[in-house]
Amino acid sequence: MEVSFLGGSLEVGRSAVLVSYKNTKVLLDYGVMLNDHPEFPLPVETRKLNAAILTHAHLDHSGALPMLYISYAPKLYCTSMTKDTATLLIQDFIKLSGEHLVFEKKEMDRMLQNTRTVYYREPFRVGDLEIELVDAGHIPGSAQVVVNGDKTLAYTGDFTTVRTRLLDGADTIIGNVDAVVIESTYAHEDHRPRPELEKEFVKACREVVENGGTVLVPAFSVGRAQEIVCILTAHNFKHPLWLDGMAKKAMEFYLGDKKFIDGVDVLEKASRKTRMVHGRRGRETALSEPSVIVSPAGMLKGGPAMYYAPRVVEDEKSAIFLASFQIPGTPGEILLNRGVLVVDGAEKPANCQVKQFRFSGHAGRAQLHDYLRKVESNAKVFTIHGEPQQCMLLASWASKELGAESTSPERGQTYKL
Ligand SMILES: [Zn+2]
Repeated sequence: MEVSFLGGSLEVGRSAVLVSYKNTKVLLDYGVMLNDHPEFPLPVETRKLNAAILTHAHLDHSGALPMLYISYAPKLYCTSMTKDTATLLIQDFIKLSGEHLVFEKKEMDRMLQNTRTVYYREPFRVGDLEIELVDAGHIPGSAQVVVNGDKTLAYTGDFTTVRTRLLDGADTIIGNVDAVVIESTYAHEDHRPRPELEKEFVKACREVVENGGTVLVPAFSVGRAQEIVCILTAHNFKHPLWLDGMAKKAMEFYLGDKKFIDGVDVLEKASRKTRMVHGRRGRETALSEPSVIVSPAGMLKGGPAMYYAPRVVEDEKSAIFLASFQIPGTPGEILLNRGVLVVDGAEKPANCQVKQFRFSGHAGRAQLHDYLRKVESNAKVFTIHGEPQQCMLLASWASKELGAESTSPERGQTYKL
């Protein structure tokens, strides 16, 4: 068996791993790097590809998949929840970036026609390989992939073993494998304990709203936004709570297929409590009284959050609470570190409170180490999906602490297992 790294090597974004065995080739994820112009993984020979497997909906794993359907139509395997939520994100991506893309809705439609949905722990065959999806705990529907040929390879995708409001965390019973391809996003630091972070966040929201202000929480539409409304609900947040943008649709998907949700009670309670924003008038209503508004985009790159942000930022009683990691250079990061909101190229100083609460869906340092400790000790370790120093840090930890043969592959490299 061979494994080739086509993207997401020494970087976060455009994840793509190709597994080859005998005459079978299977692609694990095919994502996009969302800079000013979208950047794609290395090309694959689609006519030789037997199938693609999608671990989860986020565009850095799914955004390039329609490219595979320009002249061929390989099968795509994922969970039904990933199919629904990825469609939502890819559609929006095509709408926003159409001019920079070589594919359009037609290719996405062909992709959907060739999609087969599978559930966790239900092995299926693709050519000479047997494949199994395992719960990744990252967002509802997310999966790790275990590939069996003459060797066994596990690919974590994005995962966390930390329990969140929506999910209990990844299934880590992977068994004996010959190689593991693992994300490294937070190889350098531990997450703060979730209960402590939640308490602090809810308290801060209460203080702002009770003082007559609005809290804007920019959050990714798939996963994070719903987690935030669940956190506030679980802590009996009594004030108005709004949800806007594609996050509403993703919420519907979650409520519509609860086998992908561990925290069903809190999700249902949150859906009763949360008001949905409809249209521009709805946005004015949401801003007309003190409340918490949860809205994409998570790093303030467009989305309805950018309707609210210029208004909220002016008001010293209000707050913008960023709910995730902010990639350097994004409006969210600039707001956090320089205290200005960039609107249409102009800088607006922030009078409101700006703070970050990192409710991560990724494993922190301790969880990454625990995961690797459970893996068979002579398995090869490939660290990807992280800044270069993070990928290398995790690889050197695995070789020092576990005696594992470990590498941070570069884009374009192929390894024989
Ligand atoms: Zn993700």
